[in-house]
Amino acid sequence: MNQIYDVIVVGAGPAGLVTAEITARAGLKTVVLEKNEAIGVPVRSSGGSWIGDLQKLGIPDDYYHPLHRLRLVTGKHQASFDYPKPAACVLDVRRLYQYLGEKAIAAGADIRLKTHVDRPYLQEGSLAGVEGSSGRSTSPEVYRSSLVVDSSGYAGLIGKRQGINPGYKAFGYGAEYDLYAPDYDESEAYLLMGSVTAPNGYGWIFPYGNHRVRLGVGVIRPFNDVDPRDYLEQQYQATPELSRMLKRSSPVEFHTGLFPIYPPGGRKFVSDRLLIVGDAAGQGSSLVGEGIRYAIGSAQLAGKVVTGAFQSQDWSEAYLMHYQRLWRAKYYKDLVIAYWIYQRIARFSDRAWDALMPVLSRLTPDQMAGGLKGDFNAGWFSSILFRNPRIALDVAAHSRIKPAPSRTTPG
Ligand SMILES: Cc1cc2nc3c(=O)[nH]c(=O)nc-3n(C[C@H](O)[C@H](O)[C@H](O)COP(=O)(O)OP(=O)(O)OC[C@H]3O[C@@H](n4cnc5c(N)ncnc54)[C@H](O)[C@@H]3O)c2cc1C
Repeated sequence: MNQIYDVIVVGAGPAGLVTAEITARAGLKTVVLEKNEAIGVPVRSSGGSWIGDLQKLGIPDDYYHPLHRLRLVTGKHQASFDYPKPAACVLDVRRLYQYLGEKAIAAGADIRLKTHVDRPYLQEGSLAGVEGSSGRSTSPEVYRSSLVVDSSGYAGLIGKRQGINPGYKAFGYGAEYDLYAPDYDESEAYLLMGSVTAPNGYGWIFPYGNHRVRLGVGVIRPFNDVDPRDYLEQQYQATPELSRMLKRSSPVEFHTGLFPIYPPGGRKFVSDRLLIVGDAAGQGSSLVGEGIRYAIGSAQLAGKVVTGAFQSQDWSEAYLMHYQRLWRAKYYKDLVIAYWIYQRIARFSDRAWDALMPVLSRLTPDQMAGGLKGDFNAGWFSSILFRNPRIALDVAAHSRIKPAPSRTTPG
């Protein structure tokens, strides 16, 4: 069976759905091929995000739950940051992804569920679509197109097969309960660090409304080989207050997932007739393993360049590089700093966290939000230096603290 499109999008995550909406709205015949039987199922994300950026990306406020307090907890210390006007939020991930799917469909995109993309389809050595299987036919199905967008997330199948995605040396491995927690204070979220709660990673407790709370642990390979599932129970006991608030809770869902970590900008996002977007391109922030707003923002850039490629009838790598240049101008600088910080804190010992916490607790709520968000503009740096020059010296000193011994060698 031969099916002919202008644009084939592999994967119905936020990156693929936003790209598809833009190309379909531009009148391009667009299909999204998704291996799962529903959009956003299973959820593989805890949904932490930032309200200002979501507003700029056009995400309506009923898809996220605002947070009024962030708490950082290490073995010995706690720091709390209050936000009368919330900056951070937790997305209702499944509802958001389905909303992005609805928008793509309304724009004219065709979404094919239960359709696994197996490999690129080549004609005379050039990418000309993908081959997939959906169970509708016993022989492989060929989907032909002028352009393919690989937004298949961590798998990054087409980019890998076409040689522009070399795979990842490091990745976050997360496990998470989605709880019904009737006593949890939904105005606040927790980040928990240290060897008891999450060795070489962090734990999180993120409420997203209606008494639903995501409680998870993420660790980083190859910094260690522990199983995050073994650490989930530790989060409940991290502070007496958490034990109280989670006493009557119980899981409604259980999730696991992988988040790619890659030095920003170190690879190509395009080749002839191919763009990679979102996690497939390693475009998220390694600092806290955050990728949703990056996937949506990068897809908006990709969709624009794909539309331009059709107007120019030019699907060459040289034309598509325009997408990479736009991405670099928008994200590169902040993501490089985030990556630098990630490489240091991923190796922190408990002693290093305990030494850094009194320093972090001196940050203002806005400074803490800017740092977690990865907004490292000149204003952020100068506000820290201006208000408390000592902090910069302390942070510099702590970033040189001797690393915790790791069981495997970092890549
Ligand atoms: C445990 C965990 C916690 C996270 N927490 C956060 C957080 O708090 N905040 C945040 O912003 N980000 C978080 N992330 C990251 C975030 O989930 C991703 O960055 C984001 O989902 C990337 O979107 P995407 O569209 O690129 O890929 P994905 O959302 O992974 O979508 C890819 C899609 O492609 C489909 N697919 C894959 N292979 C094929 C194939 N061969 N054929 C057809 N379809 C295919 C998949 O089924 C999937 O639907 C977390 C990730 C993990 C693992």
